[in-house]
Amino acid sequence: FQKIDYDSKGKDELADMGRTFNHMIELLKQNYEKQQQFVSDASHELKTPLTVIDSYAQLLRRRGREKPEVFEEAVEAISSEAARMKEMTNQMLALATGESITVEKEVINTVPVFQGVAQQLATAYERKISVKGESTAYISGNELQLKQLAYLLIENAIKYSEQEVLIQIQKEEPQVNISIIDKGIGISSEDKAQIFDRFYRVDKARTRESGGTGLGLAIAENITAFHQGEIVVESEPGKGSIFTVKLPLVKEGGTEG
Ligand code: ADP
Repeated sequence: FQKIDYDSKGKDELADMGRTFNHMIELLKQNYEKQQQFVSDASHELKTPLTVIDSYAQLLRRRGREKPEVFEEAVEAISSEAARMKEMTNQMLALATGESITVEKEVINTVPVFQGVAQQLATAYERKISVKGESTAYISGNELQLKQLAYLLIENAIKYSEQEVLIQIQKEEPQVNISIIDKGIGISSEDKAQIFDRFYRVDKARTRESGGTGLGLAIAENITAFHQGEIVVESEPGKGSIFTVKLPLVKEGGTEG
């Protein structure tokens, strides 16, 4: 770090530096506001399950001893809301780590990563998932983060559809396109603009039932950005959705391109 000698600078140069400085302040301000918004949204989102837990605990205290059906219902509700809170705090943590960008990168083949996660989720949800296309597609990345990316997108495809999910991996030099294709409920164009926002859910009641947090796609976007890639969504309500992750390829040896 070198101190700048402002006295030696010309007027134009100083004006340039001033503009850069203002731009930096603006970015810092935006970042700060984003963080504040996140803290306020997060507290709000955690308050809902807490309120449910609290009221069921009170119900248990009042009626739980004499009425076994009340006991069952309350215990069930408390346990599922607690699970949701756990998932949400885990995902918030994932968002925070994703942003600190301290994880190591190495050369990895994305194909077995997506195949592995697809296999796990197919078993867990008893659903058919097929992976087609390339057998190798190397990128510079972090395997844990990529697994999480695959998990989030494939799990969404499963949650929001009832038929087979297809994963298509295609090279389009200098990048690889990994598409997660479902024939599910689809997303309207108004919602498409917002689904990557933190805590945004198209149908809050429905996703509440399926345990959604509205954080998955925000995390997926963070992970993709960390890998110098982007996510593109094509979707039609009632027909299905295609989430395509585009990532820069590297040669097997580890050099770019
Ligand atoms: P959630 O935990 O609610 O699934 P996400 O951030 O992963 O949160 O997704 C945000 C919202 O985007 C979801 O609530 C859902 O409404 C919509 N969405 C995501 N993936 C799909 C998909 N494959 N098909 C239809 N809607 C989807």
